[in-house]
Amino acid sequence: MTRDRLYSPKVIKDVLDRHGFRFSKGLGQNFLIDGNIVRAIRQAADITKDDYVLEIGPGFGTLTEELLLHAKKVVAVEIDQRLTSVLADTLSGFDNFKLINEDIMKLDVQALVEEEFEGQSFKIVANLPYYITTPIITSLIEADLGETSMTFMVQKEVADRIVAGPDNKQYGSLTLFIDYYTDANIAVLAPKSVFMPQPKVDSAVVHLVKNQTRPQVDEEKLFRLIHAGFNQRRKTIMNSLTSDKSLQIDKSRLEGVLHDLNLPTNYRAENLKLEDFINICKKI
Ligand code: SAM
Repeated sequence: MTRDRLYSPKVIKDVLDRHGFRFSKGLGQNFLIDGNIVRAIRQAADITKDDYVLEIGPGFGTLTEELLLHAKKVVAVEIDQRLTSVLADTLSGFDNFKLINEDIMKLDVQALVEEEFEGQSFKIVANLPYYITTPIITSLIEADLGETSMTFMVQKEVADRIVAGPDNKQYGSLTLFIDYYTDANIAVLAPKSVFMPQPKVDSAVVHLVKNQTRPQVDEEKLFRLIHAGFNQRRKTIMNSLTSDKSLQIDKSRLEGVLHDLNLPTNYRAENLKLEDFINICKKI
């Protein structure tokens, strides 16, 4: 069977007309209309016939279709109820697709993957709705679902923050959170012209692989330190960390710790590597 692939702007326009669909800006509905990008996302995720895939926000199913053609099974979570009948139309003929009509932020994703993937490893792939990109990524990482990789289309600016290095404006608590849990890289850049409707900014695909081992450190304390440092990123860490009431860090104690670690006392959070924060956390 040859299909008219969904990524053609003409096919998308047809679907819009047939279903009388109106894009919801509030739900971050910028749908893909470019075959090269759809393929590039699937390739970045390295999807093969053995793969189970969890997709977030299938929209009209443009990326889903590409995944279904290459994966064993795709389970997609979509909040917009109007898309149920659209997807029944656009993805008719696939018996390896399951739609879950839910809000990904409210769903028990652990229970879902246990039920749908029966303990098999799986990959997460999504062209994420931009209004909740960071909460979705951080909650999926924290949920520790056992996925082998996550491949996300995000705003270019978010991708830059994810992979930023120290001494850089983009470098911040998101960078360090992702760096702590994963190995991250930007796989593909995507201009705004690959979406309908076009967003205001360019996008990028990030590929995240969970670290198998993590440093032995009090994670809660580590991220409190990181947040305190970046909440007042213009201040030196001597000031930002000691002025955070919840941390209760004594100035002379921190001075001693920085001295022991050979870190200048006039450093700001953005000058510290993840390893530096971990070392401070262990000593404080
Ligand atoms: N995957 C499609 C594509 O690439 O053409 C659509 C991507 S669009 C950027 C984001 C999709 O996520 C939309 O279909 C939107 O309705 C859905 N969405 C938004 N918020 C959601 C949520 N909280 N849970 C699940 N899906 C959500």
